[in-house]
Amino acid sequence: MTERKVALITGASRGIGKSIAIELAKNNINVIINYYRDEKEAIEVAESIKKLGVDSIYVKADVSRFEECAKMIETIKKKFGHLDILVNNAGALLDKALKNMTKGQWDLVVKTNLDGTFNVTKNCLTLIRDGGRIINISSIVGISGNFGQTNYAASKAGIIGFTKSLAKELGKNKITVNAIAPGYIETNMTKDIPFIRKKIILVMIPLGRTGIPEDVAHLVAFLASDKAGYLTGEVIRVDGGLSF
Ligand code: NAP
Repeated sequence: MTERKVALITGASRGIGKSIAIELAKNNINVIINYYRDEKEAIEVAESIKKLGVDSIYVKADVSRFEECAKMIETIKKKFGHLDILVNNAGALLDKALKNMTKGQWDLVVKTNLDGTFNVTKNCLTLIRDGGRIINISSIVGISGNFGQTNYAASKAGIIGFTKSLAKELGKNKITVNAIAPGYIETNMTKDIPFIRKKIILVMIPLGRTGIPEDVAHLVAFLASDKAGYLTGEVIRVDGGLSF
């Protein structure tokens, strides 16, 4: 029997991260659920994953804090010994036009999204085995920008630069590093977008519907698989055509 792969998904207590965790578990991969605030939901995700026949643990860590990420990786090392797949999914949003944005609002978003990607990846580097996968969740806003999202767009654009650079560094280890740029996906993060704005966005989506977390999770599962071994440094949009 072949040994099961091990994946860490940050921000997997709900939304896109939860869907990715379940999809990888369906692909016979052991899954570590990282969360920050919502322990109850993280426990529920881990329990539902175990019912799929793979191993799962949940680990609390604020990805914006380097030391907490180091502790999380120590826990993973003790339990599994190595990692094969890292999905940097944890993310925060705090929209304001720049003229109204405080330093605190800038910092929260950039520290969670961009510093978080660095903090987790840096601490994981020695744990990810050759042939592994790093998948970073960016956004189409990191490619095109958006009104009221200078903090979010800068953090997500930064993730793209991080992805491409790291892909060049880790190629020698046959570790692929790719980014996914989702468009409008129905989650907690998008639930407060005003109804009228949602209607306008919908008209602009050629495929005629908003995305669901599984649309992203299916792509992660492919990028994490052996079939995607010759694909690295890419930024793949999952947006129903919204931004091409
Ligand atoms: P969501 O439902 O709000 O989930 C965000 C997740 O991130 C939660 O599990 C949350 O956990 C976790 N998180 C937030 N801050 C954290 C921190 N400091 N440390 C650790 N975990 C933290 O959002 P989502 O829509 O699923 O978003 C997932 C990713 O997709 C994000 O990176 C987001 O930017 C990206 N994305 C989303 C969309 C969209 O339309 N939804 C579009 C493009 C990109 P806790 O609640 O436990 O803190």
